[in-house]
Amino acid sequence: MSLLLSTWSFSRPEHESAFASLAPGADPLDAAMHIANAVEADPDVDSVGYGGLPDANGGISLDALVMRSPAEHGSAIALTKVRQAAAAARLVMEKSPHRIIAGPGADDFAMQNGIPEEDLLAPAARERWEAWRHNPTQEPGKRPWDAGLGRLYRTEGGHDTVCVLAQNNQGLAGVCTTSGMPWKTPGRVGDSPIPGAGLYVHPRYGAATITGTGELVIGNCASFSVVESMRQGADPSRAIAHLLELVLAEQPVKEEDQLGVIAVTPEGHWAAGSLRPGFKYVVTDSEGTRVEVPELVIIDEPVPETAS
Ligand code: ASP
Repeated sequence: MSLLLSTWSFSRPEHESAFASLAPGADPLDAAMHIANAVEADPDVDSVGYGGLPDANGGISLDALVMRSPAEHGSAIALTKVRQAAAAARLVMEKSPHRIIAGPGADDFAMQNGIPEEDLLAPAARERWEAWRHNPTQEPGKRPWDAGLGRLYRTEGGHDTVCVLAQNNQGLAGVCTTSGMPWKTPGRVGDSPIPGAGLYVHPRYGAATITGTGELVIGNCASFSVVESMRQGADPSRAIAHLLELVLAEQPVKEEDQLGVIAVTPEGHWAAGSLRPGFKYVVTDSEGTRVEVPELVIIDEPVPETAS
């Protein structure tokens, strides 16, 4: 049995071809990378890779993490010259003695290892930044709403990340790649490239990954917390519920905040949950590919007007 999970319906188009590369014996990280690479290259996805919205100064920076285990992971943070952030993170894992490389050094390391230098700011993203710059007092952000059709509905400022978990008879692997929060303070780093925050993979206990307001994720070591609950015997659904309840109890959650969590055991039992309605994820297994609504939504709210 093999399984592929990813956040948001914009990752749906790549699922079948990625799943084809997840046959027994294949490296699950390759399948996860397939989805991450394609979403990063898509200029219509405005929160990951090329096409991502920039920071307050109009500069774009990308963050990514790949992980197989506590001993095997890599992060590339604040990339400003290469679009392939997930590939850069994999290079950190496979070709450096380190776990995290950030800033100009991360760009240099990626380019020295064959990733091309490219312009990161897509024309549409630049236009939206120009509009925001001339009216920065507009609504700082409503959470994204996924209607399952491959694009997200929201006002300016929503953000979202492609997080992928892959499982087969070789084990588990995960990737998390993002351009972070639009209009962020230059230099801001979210949860996505931080092991145990945006993504955590343990070969014996399971994997979890998160999209949403990174500022709510980091302090609760959220992905690690989900996997730790599974280590203690919780099923993925209970582990996600515990995390989301913890965040709500311990942190100031704003109306625009959203968290979407997916988790899987080494045997391929999975669950998903979100803080609010509007999050969707994609699953492929032997029964095919479908866009799913998480079974667990902590705050029950109506559909925002911007989603209609
Ligand atoms: N978690 C990402 C960040 O805070 C963005 C997102 O997933 O929406 O940078």
